[in-house]
Amino acid sequence: MIKINENYLKLQAGYLFPEIGRRVSEFAENNPDADIIKLGIGDVTEPLCPAVIKAMHDAVDEMATSEGFHGYGPEQGYEFLTEAILANDFAPRGVKLDKSEIFISDGSKCDTGNIQEIFGLDNIVAVTDPVYPVYVDTNVMAGRTSNATEGGRYGGIVYMPCTAENNFVPELPSESVDMIYLCYPNNPTGATATKDQLKKWVDYARENKALILFDAAYEAFISDPNIPHSIYEIDGAEEVAIEFRSFSKTAGFTGTRCAFTVVPKALKAYTKAGEAIDVNAIWNRRHSTKFNGCSYITQKGAAAVYTPEGKEQIRNTINLYMDNASRIRKALTELGYNVYGGQNAPYVWLQAPEGMKSWEFFDAVLNKAHVVGTPGAGFGAAGEGYFRLSAFNKPEIVDEAMKRFAKI
Ligand SMILES: *Cc1c(COP(=O)(O)O)cnc(C)c1O
Repeated sequence: MIKINENYLKLQAGYLFPEIGRRVSEFAENNPDADIIKLGIGDVTEPLCPAVIKAMHDAVDEMATSEGFHGYGPEQGYEFLTEAILANDFAPRGVKLDKSEIFISDGSKCDTGNIQEIFGLDNIVAVTDPVYPVYVDTNVMAGRTSNATEGGRYGGIVYMPCTAENNFVPELPSESVDMIYLCYPNNPTGATATKDQLKKWVDYARENKALILFDAAYEAFISDPNIPHSIYEIDGAEEVAIEFRSFSKTAGFTGTRCAFTVVPKALKAYTKAGEAIDVNAIWNRRHSTKFNGCSYITQKGAAAVYTPEGKEQIRNTINLYMDNASRIRKALTELGYNVYGGQNAPYVWLQAPEGMKSWEFFDAVLNKAHVVGTPGAGFGAAGEGYFRLSAFNKPEIVDEAMKRFAKI
């Protein structure tokens, strides 16, 4: 008899985006003339930049020749891309890494989801609340949790509330934790973490032999020069942290697929007997066993992001999104909302007025402004009463949405 992995039965139904879809369809049916503006989903809207398109076209042409054809590439990625990453993303910030510490992949969702596989099932996982659901669900699938409780939380996971009171950066937990997922700039709150705040976590991890899983998918949106882009800007982080980066939001690769994970050689995890094991070697083994490389054409496109033209072009697109975020912040602030994020991240996180719950506010915004956002409660219990607006859209659409917010 074939047995199912019962850990999967603990997963709660993917509730948030289906429920948003259901409410939006129902509204659209009842209001066929309403022009609904979607500021809900975390996907980019601008096309790939010309430098990337040119590089990918050239790579396609190469693939059509005997000399330029590429079959399987290195599972860890081509050197032309890892070298561009080291020279542009890390060296200018004083972060020294080796090529062998970078693993190119087809996405950070997979990487942040897969990484837990190489760590023991008895590790205690800590996540922020609200949270990117991938971190939690992949640990549920692996069997690190018990069933969900009524509040939607899983036993065996330590939830660290992030609210306006702590500027959306969690306090150190009072219990001992082993695997700590942090995402800054944050999805969904748009919050950032300072060097001092990250240093506290790095110090905690070093003292407790814990691991930080640092998701930096939104680092390109940082404009404040005092906010670190990489956790490795903190001394000692290379001993305790894995960092995830993606071209998805940085360069519009959500549909093209390229990302990378940094696993430093200095990072150790331990056997039950206390022997220190090189995590880089284990991840290399896992990655090259289960992954056969991101496509040559895609990696050529990603490398073009680091050319002078590519850098300027993606900067212009990021500026367009961040100008949107800035106008969203301004409009909502003028309307009297408490507004967070949107300064170094493409998400604005606002408090629903007058103690309204997230879903009540979602309905009000949909019914009165015909705008779709994302209820904060969908990202975790501590997101209750908050609401996320994405800056990924055309400027004129964002402006129209903000005009309509005045009617709520
Ligand atoms: C969008 C996003 C990513 C990137 O995922 P990809 O699989 O690389 O597209 C990673 N982490 C967070 C929190 C995100 O919002």
